Amino acid sequence: MKPYAEVIGDPIAHSKSPAIHGFWLDALGIDAEYRAMRVSPDGLAAYFDSCRADPEWRGCNITIPHKQAALDLVEDRGGVRQSIGAVNTVIRAEDGALIGTNTDAGGFYSPIAGLDLEGRHAVVIGAGGAARAILFALSKVGIGRVTILNRNVLKAAALLSSFGMKGDAMPLGSPLPAADLLVNASVLGMDGQPSLDLDLSPLPEDAVVYDVVYAPLETRLLAQARARELDIVDGLEMLIGQAALAFELFFGVEPPRDRDEELRALLVK
Ligand code: NAP
Repeated sequence: MKPYAEVIGDPIAHSKSPAIHGFWLDALGIDAEYRAMRVSPDGLAAYFDSCRADPEWRGCNITIPHKQAALDLVEDRGGVRQSIGAVNTVIRAEDGALIGTNTDAGGFYSPIAGLDLEGRHAVVIGAGGAARAILFALSKVGIGRVTILNRNVLKAAALLSSFGMKGDAMPLGSPLPAADLLVNASVLGMDGQPSLDLDLSPLPEDAVVYDVVYAPLETRLLAQARARELDIVDGLEMLIGQAALAFELFFGVEPPRDRDEELRALLVK
């Protein structure tokens, strides 16, 4: 049997991870597999037991609904529970232990690594799992202030205080401040979800607008930002970024990011 990694979740058929990792394995000529595996919540502990016993298993990505539950079943050597509070990648350490980590914060940050965000003002829409990873990343680069707009304002306030950040928690529909970075980290604007209605006019001309939603790829928010000629970052950039960090952990080699355009074309087919 070949070495392999996989993505687990329930449901799992929609996942783009097999296409991303499969593209990189082919591009690099690595004789390994990456597959999707449906694992129910009841089967999660048994799944990790089977991974421990399988020498070909290189690791897994974890998606809904297992990102928190996995924290109790694998070792947390990097303090993920206290920081992001969820695991999206599990690998095997040299001593054989299964270690949980999270590549969403790094994946979010990689497309905007060239921005100087120190002391700047960011607006984040949403206060769920993606927003938590994003706030962690923003806290690490010394963001000055974060305004969170969320349906549940108390949840947004708790998220801000858990990172000891300066900022405000406001209800959805509040006017935007003149922020340097606007990130949609909610489900709003995603296929099948309500739309995100924002007036972008308070944003300065050099603001960056980032939507983590990738289905559709061109959300209404990004179309509005494009119409204002603001710099934009779409959700596939974060998706590919978090996968790249996981790929290196699984297979010990960086994926060929110079082929992102080809990969993106494959993912939007
Ligand atoms: P989550 O933990 O379930 O959080 C969902 C967020 O959306 C919460 O802020 C929630 O508000 C808000 N929301 C849900 N339904 C709403 C509604 N009807 N009206 C207003 N607000 C609503 O989900 P998540 O894991 O953070 O994912 C959020 C989005 O990020 C999804 O679209 C997901 O696909 C995307 N994502 C993308 C990447 C990537 O790599 N590009 C990675 C992770 C996630 P309340 O707090 O008030 O409930």
